[in-house]
Amino acid sequence: MVIKKYSKSKNGGERLSPNFTVREFACKDGTDLILIDDELVNLLQQVRDHFQVPVTVNSAYRTAAYNAKIGGVKNSQHVLGMAADIVVKDVTPIAVAQYAEYLGAKGIGLYSDFVHLDTRKGAKSRWINKGKEVAVSGFPGYQEPQAPAAPAAKDSLSIEIYDGSGELVTALQGRLDGGTTWAPLRQVAEALKATVIFDQETIRIIAP
Ligand SMILES: [Zn+2]
Repeated sequence: MVIKKYSKSKNGGERLSPNFTVREFACKDGTDLILIDDELVNLLQQVRDHFQVPVTVNSAYRTAAYNAKIGGVKNSQHVLGMAADIVVKDVTPIAVAQYAEYLGAKGIGLYSDFVHLDTRKGAKSRWINKGKEVAVSGFPGYQEPQAPAAPAAKDSLSIEIYDGSGELVTALQGRLDGGTTWAPLRQVAEALKATVIFDQETIRIIAP
């Protein structure tokens, strides 16, 4: 966690990460100073990378005066530059909260039409606010995409070896097992004009 100070007029256009610039974190009251935690930027960028759609920052840094004016809580993480209320285009707030939970975000607040994320110190905090605030234990439910299944075993696999001019040199039978292709090594090596030396312990293939 590194909270940096920026000037909206001087650094507004500065890129903090591939998809976020300084001015997106500015206080809505027009204050020039902006506090931004680099860990917060990293969190938002991870959300952006995951959903691959634009992320709008509704509110990030807030001066204490502005926070009080809009009725924000006194110890708001927004005042520290460690919070952002975001909308992820075409993604439901619950899906965003679940992904943030998966990432291990420190503070997650689920609202009707946005998600509050923060990088607070200390214990994690989770809540739902749809008119009134209710503390919850978390937002489980994000499923990691399954790795593609390994190709099924195949007892008979045709292997064709061609030379550089596209002529078929030899056709062999191999097999497929859990993504590994097994082939008669000596025949393959010899078809590629390599020298094969087999001494019962080691097979040595010497490239032509
Ligand atoms: Zn917030």
